Amino acid sequence: MNDQELLRYSRHILLDEIGIEGQERLRSASVLVVGAGGLGSPAALYLAAAGVGRLVLADGDTVDLTNLQRQILHTPSRIGWPKARSGELALRELNPDVDVLAIEARLADGALEAAVAQATVVLDCCDNFETRHAVNRACVKAGVPLVSGAAIRFDGQLAVFDPRQDHSPCYHCLFPDTDLPDPVQCATMGVFAPLTGIIGTLQAAEALKIAGGFGTPCVGSLLLVDARTLEITRMKVPRDPHCTVCGPQSRL
Ligand SMILES: [Zn+2]
Repeated sequence: MNDQELLRYSRHILLDEIGIEGQERLRSASVLVVGAGGLGSPAALYLAAAGVGRLVLADGDTVDLTNLQRQILHTPSRIGWPKARSGELALRELNPDVDVLAIEARLADGALEAAVAQATVVLDCCDNFETRHAVNRACVKAGVPLVSGAAIRFDGQLAVFDPRQDHSPCYHCLFPDTDLPDPVQCATMGVFAPLTGIIGTLQAAEALKIAGGFGTPCVGSLLLVDARTLEITRMKVPRDPHCTVCGPQSRL
């Protein structure tokens, strides 16, 4: 690290848990953020500010006026832009040291698998169950940790899955892909603006811990946040031995 970087990241380097070694691990990490909306905005901003070496931001939507209440990567002057490109501009401005790659598409199939396989850690910040399950399958297949977040109305969720650990469940263990809610319904529900900031920032924190090799990521737990009362519940979630994604049947 040069003098400029040592100064920029000095408040991280001063932490015993991180130090120069942890900060260098962050610089050599590549983080994939799927979704540049309410969760992806704060998550990507913190990852960039904190000095993650490479950030890949994927989103197939464009910036809309109704997004600006919570999607803090975007601005009124960028309404109509692809969200990934708008986010890329914001992240480059925040930290020019970070190598930002914008993917202006909803990642799926081979493109999703390739992007996941190149990542140190993946953040699921998307708004639909189809992508959530596809991202989970790709992470299990590639053995890449997944930090999953969700926020709707006043209810937030956070969970970390690490397929490198034997006891870790996957997203499908918790939320089997039967009885998926209507995607149109999800897209038009209200959401309390700072709740997306709370969950997205927690996702950034967990991803930095995994990429930097410090702290204890909350693998195998589901965190529920009720923003009406700020009641926070953390429950253990076991691996489902019959899971069709990470269980033994998936390897047959
Ligand atoms: Zn599973």
